[in-house]
Amino acid sequence: NTSLHELDPEVAAAVDAELNRQQSTLEMIASENFAPLAVMEAQGSVLTNKYAEGYPGRRYYGGCEHVDVAEQIAIDRVKELFGAEYANVQPHSGASANQAALFALAQPGDTILGLDLAHGGHLTHGMRLNFSGKQFNVVAYHVSPETGLVDMAELERLAIEHRPKVIIAGWSAYPRELDFAAFRRIADEVGAYLWVDMAHFAGLVAAGLHANPVPYADVVTSTTHKTLGGPRGGIILAKQAFAKKLNSSVFPGFQGGPLEHVIAAKAVSFKVAASEEFRERQRRTLEGARILAERLTAPDAREAGVNVLSGGTDVHLILVDLRESALDGQQAEDRLHEVGITVNRNAVPDDPRPPMVTSGLRIGTPALATRGFDASDFAEVADVIAEALKPSYDAESLRIRVKALADRHPLYPGLNK
Ligand code: PLP
Repeated sequence: NTSLHELDPEVAAAVDAELNRQQSTLEMIASENFAPLAVMEAQGSVLTNKYAEGYPGRRYYGGCEHVDVAEQIAIDRVKELFGAEYANVQPHSGASANQAALFALAQPGDTILGLDLAHGGHLTHGMRLNFSGKQFNVVAYHVSPETGLVDMAELERLAIEHRPKVIIAGWSAYPRELDFAAFRRIADEVGAYLWVDMAHFAGLVAAGLHANPVPYADVVTSTTHKTLGGPRGGIILAKQAFAKKLNSSVFPGFQGGPLEHVIAAKAVSFKVAASEEFRERQRRTLEGARILAERLTAPDAREAGVNVLSGGTDVHLILVDLRESALDGQQAEDRLHEVGITVNRNAVPDDPRPPMVTSGLRIGTPALATRGFDASDFAEVADVIAEALKPSYDAESLRIRVKALADRHPLYPGLNK
């Protein structure tokens, strides 16, 4: 019964310091969020002790009657949330969900067609060093350099030329909605499966503020910890016809015992995601991103060489284009870090600078919206960012403004020891 602080003060100190970092800075990494206390309570529960290989009602271990209840609730809730015929809530992460999904749809050596990593795709969509790039024949589609939008004409041309087994729609760094109906049409034209990875925008879909890919796709994967705001993990949704293949691809294909504590936490987060409060939060998330895009395309930002890819956003993030700025992505990330704002540098399509430096930033609003930020708060954050990216800036005064925003919206106030 020894507490973490008593048993292991070194690890406890790291956890405390991380809590302090999250509370005192502004988290604007687009893939991050703050899970509710109830989600973390489920995730830190005794369910961590249970082996439960198999699926509810069909386990390879005894004593699964209670984890069966939690896992079935998670399955039922997520199917309802997204209107899916089938759900698997066991993938340990987004990458595990994607691995299981891809191997259920295709065999090693088959051709897959995904968005280029350097144009906003994810590692698991065919990057050279990832399982997807090593074991499949990858063809990549791109965004158009003029519009910053996915080049659907190129996609169709590549699909006809290469006849992929799977077309992947989804992204990690792209500021616009995809046209799922067009993806479906192209997939049907060449006899490909359509897999949508909605990891980034699942929360917007759950709130009804973004098109739902489920009716169009054969398989949809997601993480549960980005806009969806739950515990770190993955899910797979699909048409019933793929149920058997997907179940056996997850277990025993790639995983052993499911993380039942995380699955219980996923169930809690799906309940939250069905609420009106969640919808309101996602509305503020979108509003915040739009405010950022407007501020960072204003004349004084443009004068400092700052711009926004595609001219704006439909989602929870913006991609800042620094190709004309004296600052590179690394320097811009460091500047914002210095004033208390956490973002990540990000390559722009056909980036002239190396991948560890880049000419862009990815800035997202989900975590701050969860913290309670409204339009006026986001306007203030956007102004601080615009000022910090100018050739000369006053770090101290910007730090004070960031601290005032953080203080206005306390995070996890009950957790401080
Ligand atoms: N898919 C997309 C589109 C992502 O952006 C990410 C995470 O960055 C993943 C999958 C992978 O998720 P995880 O980090 O949980 O493996």
